[in-house]
Amino acid sequence: MVQSVAPAALLRRIYMRKPIAVLGVALAPVALTAGVIAAAPQTADGAIATYKLTYASLPNGTKQVVRWNGCQKTITYKVNLAAVPSAQRSAVLSDTKAAVAKVALNTKFVFTYKGTTSEVPKVGSMARQSAELVIAFTSPSKTNYSLAGSTLGQGGLYYGWVSRTVNGRTSYTVAAQRGFVVIDTPQMLNQARGGTGTGLRRTNLLAHELGHAVGLQHVSDTRQQMYPSIRTASPTLFYTGDRAGLAKVGKAAGCINTAYMPLKDLS
Ligand SMILES: [Zn+2]
Repeated sequence: MVQSVAPAALLRRIYMRKPIAVLGVALAPVALTAGVIAAAPQTADGAIATYKLTYASLPNGTKQVVRWNGCQKTITYKVNLAAVPSAQRSAVLSDTKAAVAKVALNTKFVFTYKGTTSEVPKVGSMARQSAELVIAFTSPSKTNYSLAGSTLGQGGLYYGWVSRTVNGRTSYTVAAQRGFVVIDTPQMLNQARGGTGTGLRRTNLLAHELGHAVGLQHVSDTRQQMYPSIRTASPTLFYTGDRAGLAKVGKAAGCINTAYMPLKDLS
């Protein structure tokens, strides 16, 4: 995964940030089918992608961009600081809020901080989350999302879809409903600095994982935060392609009717 774009001397180490875990679930208000759990394909949006969106594969063979409802009043979030030493908690929380604020700025979504939590996202736990987004500073043994080796974090989302069949024609509505971030906290504290700026920063790690939680996938463009590794050359929070991708899945993409979705809007 190491790309030789920068002289080796400029790179300290390469830290992997794992690809998204996207889980889909299906619910039938009318006539429908079984649940779908699938990893999202990394679909290219262009020849030289500076951002990539997440697509839901639907039972009729079509695909739709996965995004949050542009008309959702707010996306609630909670933060688990359990693995952060108490003296560093306020700094880590402040870095978290700074990264969330940048996602908010670029998507135009409103995010509302609902306090701390002891929840640790695990495979299959998203439906039970007490906030739309749970950001957990945890350790690899506490979650079954892989934080093995140099993996510093994972982020992902959970989307629902509903289908409607009228006169034999089926249409699908897809919406992101929950998101999560898990961080290998001891490794993060050891490797990444606080505050905003380029390079190995907590804010950049969080921006990357939050990017997954709102629907961005990895790109091979090293200038973008959605490049799979965090490096000394990582941009400050989001770069141009990241921002374009965030705008694409943001509020301006419009309302999604989530009334029949499997999970409730927690705002
Ligand atoms: Zn990633």
